[in-house]
Amino acid sequence: MKTKYLCPHCEEALNVDNDIVLKAKNNSGRKGIVFLHTLLGNYNSRFSAEFTITEGEKVKFYCPLCNSNLTNLKNERLAYFTMIDGDDKKFTVVFSKIYGEKCTYVIQETEVIKSYGDQLNIYTNPDWFLMK
Ligand SMILES: [Zn+2]
Repeated sequence: MKTKYLCPHCEEALNVDNDIVLKAKNNSGRKGIVFLHTLLGNYNSRFSAEFTITEGEKVKFYCPLCNSNLTNLKNERLAYFTMIDGDDKKFTVVFSKIYGEKCTYVIQETEVIKSYGDQLNIYTNPDWFLMK
């Protein structure tokens, strides 16, 4: 079974081929679709036509299916979704909502088991991944 990415709220799949598809809103309130690469640590993202995000801008992410806000409850600079790996194990993926900030964390229960990106030291507060 291939890795699946799910909305943490409605638990529907968000990935299409090699993209995780999210609804987004930029600083000026414009809405668009953002495609994040399913390979964590690959920060090549794509946007729907007319949607722009500039470096340093904080993007709001939503589930395209249930419209839930994907912001992390403990740190509003971070967003998250669920990952189910090929062995059916469940993880939470946390990533920065600031465009250009490269930091992604894979969390199993309350432990960071993997991280990607070169700006991981921005979020060192241990509270940010304790979501409940
Ligand atoms: Zn959803």
